[in-house]
Amino acid sequence: MSLWGAFLSVLFPLRCTACGLSGTPLCRGCLDQVPKMPETNNPLITALYSYRHPSIKKTLWALKYRNNTTTAEIFGNALYEHLLERAHEFTAFSSASQNDKPTVIPIPLHKRRLRTRGFNQSEKIVAALKLLDTNESFLYADDILVKIKETAPQASLKNKQERSQNIRGCFTVRNAEKIKNKVVIVVDDITTTGATLNEALGALKNAGASAVYGIAIAH
Ligand SMILES: [Zn+2]
Repeated sequence: MSLWGAFLSVLFPLRCTACGLSGTPLCRGCLDQVPKMPETNNPLITALYSYRHPSIKKTLWALKYRNNTTTAEIFGNALYEHLLERAHEFTAFSSASQNDKPTVIPIPLHKRRLRTRGFNQSEKIVAALKLLDTNESFLYADDILVKIKETAPQASLKNKQERSQNIRGCFTVRNAEKIKNKVVIVVDDITTTGATLNEALGALKNAGASAVYGIAIAH
Protein backbone atom coordinates (compact mmCIF):
# COMPACT_ATOMS: atom_id res chain seq x y z
CA MET A 1 0.00 0.00 0.00
CA SER A 2 1.26 3.49 -0.77
CA LEU A 3 1.89 6.01 1.99
CA TRP A 4 -1.14 7.92 0.77
CA GLY A 5 -3.18 4.72 0.83
CA ALA A 6 -2.03 3.99 4.39
CA PHE A 7 -2.90 7.54 5.42
CA LEU A 8 -6.37 7.23 3.90
CA SER A 9 -7.05 3.87 5.52
CA VAL A 10 -6.30 5.35 8.95
CA LEU A 11 -8.47 8.40 8.38
CA PHE A 12 -11.20 6.70 6.39
CA PRO A 13 -11.15 2.96 7.08
CA LEU A 14 -12.86 0.91 4.39
CA ARG A 15 -15.84 -1.11 5.56
CA CYS A 16 -18.22 -3.33 3.64
CA THR A 17 -21.27 -1.16 2.94
CA ALA A 18 -23.54 -4.16 3.40
CA CYS A 19 -22.18 -6.07 6.44
CA GLY A 20 -19.54 -3.77 7.97
CA LEU A 21 -16.54 -6.09 7.53
CA SER A 22 -13.37 -3.98 7.49
CA GLY A 23 -10.77 -3.71 4.74
CA THR A 24 -12.98 -3.43 1.67
CA PRO A 25 -16.08 -1.44 0.68
CA LEU A 26 -17.70 -4.71 -0.36
CA CYS A 27 -16.78 -8.16 0.91
CA ARG A 28 -16.86 -11.33 -1.17
CA GLY A 29 -19.98 -12.66 0.56
CA CYS A 30 -21.92 -9.47 -0.05
CA LEU A 31 -20.67 -9.23 -3.65
CA ASP A 32 -22.32 -12.62 -4.25
CA GLN A 33 -25.65 -10.98 -3.37
CA VAL A 34 -25.25 -8.26 -6.02
CA PRO A 35 -27.31 -9.10 -9.13
CA LYS A 36 -25.26 -10.10 -12.16
CA MET A 37 -25.58 -8.04 -15.29
CA PRO A 38 -24.33 -10.02 -18.25
CA GLU A 39 -25.65 -8.00 -21.22
CA THR A 40 -24.42 -4.78 -22.81
CA ASN A 41 -25.48 -3.39 -26.17
CA ASN A 42 -22.39 -4.95 -27.78
CA PRO A 43 -22.53 -8.76 -28.09
CA LEU A 44 -18.74 -8.98 -27.68
CA ILE A 45 -18.72 -7.00 -24.44
CA THR A 46 -19.99 -8.30 -21.11
CA ALA A 47 -20.16 -6.60 -17.73
CA LEU A 48 -20.35 -8.45 -14.44
CA TYR A 49 -22.34 -5.85 -12.48
CA SER A 50 -24.30 -2.65 -12.85
CA TYR A 51 -22.33 0.50 -12.10
CA ARG A 52 -25.57 1.95 -10.69
CA HIS A 53 -25.36 -0.42 -7.75
CA PRO A 54 -24.03 1.84 -4.93
CA SER A 55 -21.71 -0.81 -3.43
CA ILE A 56 -20.19 -1.62 -6.83
CA LYS A 57 -19.61 2.07 -7.56
CA LYS A 58 -17.95 2.61 -4.20
CA THR A 59 -15.82 -0.50 -4.50
CA LEU A 60 -14.56 0.38 -7.97
CA TRP A 61 -13.75 3.85 -6.67
CA ALA A 62 -11.69 2.32 -3.85
CA LEU A 63 -9.83 0.21 -6.39
CA LYS A 64 -9.12 3.14 -8.69
CA TYR A 65 -8.23 5.84 -6.19
CA ARG A 66 -7.04 3.91 -3.16
CA ASN A 67 -5.31 1.02 -4.92
CA ASN A 68 -7.11 -1.35 -2.56
CA THR A 69 -5.67 -4.84 -3.04
CA THR A 70 -8.53 -6.66 -1.30
CA THR A 71 -10.89 -5.06 -3.80
CA ALA A 72 -8.78 -6.26 -6.74
CA GLU A 73 -8.82 -9.79 -5.26
CA ILE A 74 -12.59 -9.78 -4.80
CA PHE A 75 -13.22 -8.63 -8.36
CA GLY A 76 -10.48 -10.98 -9.62
CA ASN A 77 -12.36 -13.85 -8.01
CA ALA A 78 -15.70 -12.84 -9.55
CA LEU A 79 -14.00 -12.49 -12.93
CA TYR A 80 -12.37 -15.91 -12.61
CA GLU A 81 -15.73 -17.58 -11.93
CA HIS A 82 -17.28 -15.75 -14.86
CA LEU A 83 -14.46 -16.76 -17.23
CA LEU A 84 -14.59 -20.42 -16.18
CA GLU A 85 -18.36 -20.49 -16.81
CA ARG A 86 -17.81 -19.14 -20.31
CA ALA A 87 -14.58 -21.02 -21.14
CA HIS A 88 -16.23 -23.22 -23.80
CA GLU A 89 -18.06 -20.34 -25.42
CA PHE A 90 -14.79 -18.42 -25.93
CA THR A 91 -13.23 -21.06 -28.17
CA ALA A 92 -16.44 -22.46 -29.71
CA PHE A 93 -17.06 -19.54 -32.05
CA SER A 94 -13.54 -19.03 -33.29
CA SER A 95 -11.13 -20.66 -35.67
CA ALA A 96 -8.72 -21.15 -32.76
CA SER A 97 -7.88 -24.70 -31.81
CA GLN A 98 -10.01 -26.04 -28.95
CA ASN A 99 -6.80 -26.71 -27.06
CA ASP A 100 -5.68 -23.11 -27.29
CA LYS A 101 -6.26 -21.25 -24.07
CA PRO A 102 -7.65 -17.73 -24.33
CA THR A 103 -5.21 -14.94 -23.47
CA VAL A 104 -6.44 -12.45 -20.89
CA ILE A 105 -5.09 -8.92 -21.05
CA PRO A 106 -6.00 -5.74 -19.17
CA ILE A 107 -6.84 -2.47 -20.88
CA PRO A 108 -3.53 -0.61 -20.71
CA LEU A 109 -3.00 2.95 -19.55
CA HIS A 110 -0.79 5.35 -21.49
CA LYS A 111 2.72 5.26 -19.95
CA ARG A 112 2.45 8.89 -18.82
CA ARG A 113 -0.88 8.22 -17.11
CA LEU A 114 0.57 5.10 -15.50
CA ARG A 115 3.47 7.14 -14.16
CA THR A 116 1.21 9.73 -12.52
CA ARG A 117 -1.29 7.19 -11.16
CA GLY A 118 1.31 4.64 -10.12
CA PHE A 119 -0.80 1.62 -11.06
CA ASN A 120 -3.36 0.37 -13.54
CA GLN A 121 -6.58 -0.79 -11.84
CA SER A 122 -7.49 -3.23 -14.66
CA GLU A 123 -4.01 -4.74 -14.41
CA LYS A 124 -4.56 -5.22 -10.67
CA ILE A 125 -7.76 -7.19 -11.33
CA VAL A 126 -6.03 -9.38 -13.94
CA ALA A 127 -3.05 -9.91 -11.59
CA ALA A 128 -5.47 -11.13 -8.89
CA LEU A 129 -7.16 -13.40 -11.46
CA LYS A 130 -3.80 -14.86 -12.51
CA LEU A 131 -2.96 -15.74 -8.89
CA LEU A 132 -6.27 -17.61 -8.54
CA ASP A 133 -5.84 -19.43 -11.84
CA THR A 134 -3.56 -22.14 -10.46
CA ASN A 135 -4.98 -24.59 -13.05
CA GLU A 136 -3.67 -22.27 -15.77
CA SER A 137 -6.97 -22.22 -17.63
CA PHE A 138 -5.95 -18.96 -19.28
CA LEU A 139 -2.82 -17.33 -20.63
CA TYR A 140 -1.73 -13.84 -19.60
CA ALA A 141 0.32 -11.22 -21.40
CA ASP A 142 1.15 -7.62 -20.68
CA ASP A 143 3.27 -6.90 -23.75
CA ILE A 144 0.59 -7.07 -26.44
CA LEU A 145 -1.82 -4.18 -26.20
CA VAL A 146 -0.21 -0.77 -25.80
CA LYS A 147 -1.89 2.60 -25.44
CA ILE A 148 0.06 4.92 -27.71
CA LYS A 149 -2.15 8.00 -27.60
CA GLU A 150 -3.10 9.96 -24.51
CA THR A 151 -6.84 10.51 -24.47
CA ALA A 152 -9.19 12.75 -22.53
CA PRO A 153 -10.99 10.88 -19.75
CA GLN A 154 -14.00 9.19 -21.39
CA ALA A 155 -16.21 10.38 -18.51
CA SER A 156 -15.48 14.02 -19.51
CA LEU A 157 -17.09 13.50 -22.92
CA LYS A 158 -20.81 13.79 -23.38
CA ASN A 159 -21.90 11.58 -26.19
CA LYS A 160 -21.07 8.26 -27.74
CA GLN A 161 -19.68 9.82 -30.91
CA GLU A 162 -17.23 12.03 -29.01
CA ARG A 163 -16.13 9.08 -26.95
CA SER A 164 -15.38 6.85 -29.89
CA GLN A 165 -13.58 9.72 -31.67
CA ASN A 166 -11.48 10.40 -28.56
CA ILE A 167 -10.34 6.80 -28.34
CA ARG A 168 -9.83 6.10 -32.06
CA GLY A 169 -6.35 4.81 -32.90
CA CYS A 170 -5.17 4.99 -29.29
CA PHE A 171 -4.13 1.31 -29.10
CA THR A 172 -1.49 -0.60 -30.98
CA VAL A 173 -0.61 -4.29 -30.85
CA ARG A 174 2.93 -5.50 -30.23
CA ASN A 175 4.17 -9.11 -30.42
CA ALA A 176 1.15 -9.94 -32.60
CA GLU A 177 2.48 -13.49 -33.15
CA LYS A 178 1.41 -14.32 -29.57
CA ILE A 179 -2.27 -13.74 -30.36
CA LYS A 180 -2.38 -14.82 -34.00
CA ASN A 181 -5.41 -17.14 -34.41
CA LYS A 182 -5.93 -17.06 -30.65
CA VAL A 183 -8.86 -16.00 -28.51
CA VAL A 184 -8.20 -12.79 -26.60
CA ILE A 185 -10.19 -11.49 -23.61
CA VAL A 186 -9.70 -7.85 -22.68
CA VAL A 187 -10.54 -6.73 -19.14
CA ASP A 188 -11.53 -3.22 -18.09
CA ASP A 189 -12.85 -1.97 -14.77
CA ILE A 190 -15.77 0.11 -16.08
CA THR A 191 -17.39 0.29 -19.50
CA THR A 192 -19.93 2.97 -20.31
CA THR A 193 -20.52 3.18 -24.06
CA GLY A 194 -18.10 0.32 -24.69
CA ALA A 195 -15.94 2.59 -26.88
CA THR A 196 -12.61 1.81 -25.17
CA LEU A 197 -13.09 -1.96 -25.12
CA ASN A 198 -14.44 -1.89 -28.65
CA GLU A 199 -11.38 0.01 -29.89
CA ALA A 200 -9.07 -2.48 -28.14
CA LEU A 201 -10.96 -5.46 -29.58
CA GLY A 202 -10.72 -3.96 -33.08
CA ALA A 203 -6.96 -3.48 -32.77
CA LEU A 204 -6.49 -7.09 -31.61
CA LYS A 205 -8.72 -8.47 -34.34
CA ASN A 206 -6.81 -6.49 -36.98
CA ALA A 207 -3.59 -7.91 -35.57
CA GLY A 208 -4.80 -11.46 -36.23
CA ALA A 209 -6.70 -12.63 -33.14
CA SER A 210 -9.32 -15.22 -34.12
CA ALA A 211 -11.93 -14.03 -31.60
CA VAL A 212 -12.02 -11.16 -29.15
CA TYR A 213 -14.17 -10.50 -26.08
CA GLY A 214 -14.34 -7.58 -23.71
CA ILE A 215 -15.28 -8.00 -20.06
CA ALA A 216 -15.80 -5.11 -17.67
CA ILE A 217 -16.44 -5.36 -13.96
CA ALA A 218 -19.24 -2.84 -14.26
CA HIS A 219 -21.40 -1.19 -16.88
ZN1 LIG B 1 -20.05 -7.64 3.45
